[in-house]
Amino acid sequence: MGSWNQRTVATRVSATGVGLHSGRPATLTLAPAPAEAGITFVRMDLGVEIPARNTHVVDTTLSTSIGLGPARVATVEHVLAALHGMGIDNCRVEVDGPEIPILDGSAAPFVCLVQEAGVRALRAGRHVLVVDEPVEIRDGDRLARLEPADAFSVEFTADFGHPLITNQSFRAVVSERTFEREIARARTFCFRRDIERMQAAGLARGGSLENAIVVDDFSILNPEGLRFPDEFARHKVLDAIGDLALAGVAVQGALVAVKSGHAMNQALVRKLLGDEASYRVVRLSADAEAEATSGRVTLPVQVAEGRPT
Ligand SMILES: [Zn+2]
Repeated sequence: MGSWNQRTVATRVSATGVGLHSGRPATLTLAPAPAEAGITFVRMDLGVEIPARNTHVVDTTLSTSIGLGPARVATVEHVLAALHGMGIDNCRVEVDGPEIPILDGSAAPFVCLVQEAGVRALRAGRHVLVVDEPVEIRDGDRLARLEPADAFSVEFTADFGHPLITNQSFRAVVSERTFEREIARARTFCFRRDIERMQAAGLARGGSLENAIVVDDFSILNPEGLRFPDEFARHKVLDAIGDLALAGVAVQGALVAVKSGHAMNQALVRKLLGDEASYRVVRLSADAEAEATSGRVTLPVQVAEGRPT
C-alpha cells in the first residue's frame, strides 16, 4: 500500500550552482517543513518566505518566477517538478540569491538531493486536487487542458517548426518511478539563433552546454548528444509538472498540452483554481503508524470517500 501521508525531506541538503538567466551563483537548500506548510521558497539573504503558489507568480518569461513584494525567486519550475514528482508536499526551498541554480538543466540533481535527504512521512493525510470538469486554455494551435482522470498524467506535444523538434510528443502517468526514470533527466534547451537576443535582454547569462541543450539549424551542439531521442518533449513535460505544482497541491487529472509554455500553464492553473465547479480538494486518510519511509506515493484510483476540505 502506498503512503497517503503528507511527506517532507528528512534532513537538510544543499547544492550550489549558477542561475541560468542571472548567471549568479547561489546555494540551494531543501529543508524539512511541517504538515500543511506546503512548499515555500525562502530568500535567505532577504529573510523573505514566498509560498509556491500560482498567486505569487510574477514572471513567466522563459522561466517561472515567484515573488512577494520586492523579493523574487526565478526559475522555480525544475526544483518544483522534482518535489512534486517525488511526492514531497512540504519543503522549505532556501536560496541565498535571486535564482534557483540551474545545475545540469534538468530535475535529476534535485531528485538526487531528495534521495540524499531521505523522505519523511508526516502524520497528516495528503491533499489532492481532483479535476472534475475539463478546463482549458487555447491560443491558436496552442493548448493546455486538464481533464478528469484516475491518476496524474501529462502529455506534451512540442513543435518548433525545426527539423529536430517537429511534432514531438511524450506522455507519462506521473509517479515517483516514472518521474525519476523517464522525466527528471530531460534537460532544458534553446536555439543557438536565440542566444544573442536572450543575452541582450539580460537572460541566459549562466547558460552553457553544461546546463542546456543547444540546437543549431540542423544539429545538437552538445558533444554528448541527447539523453533521450525525445528529450525536448520530456523536458516540456517536466516544466509542466513544475508549473502545475504552483496549484499548491497534488493534482489528480490528465494534463494535455500542445506547444504550451510557462505563461499558458499558469493561465491554466489560474483558470482551474478560479472555477470551483471544476475541481474538489480531498484529503486522503493518513496512516497514523507512518514513520520515516522512502515508500512510493501512489494516488488512489478512487478518492470518493476522501473528505473535502
Ligand atoms: Zn525547463
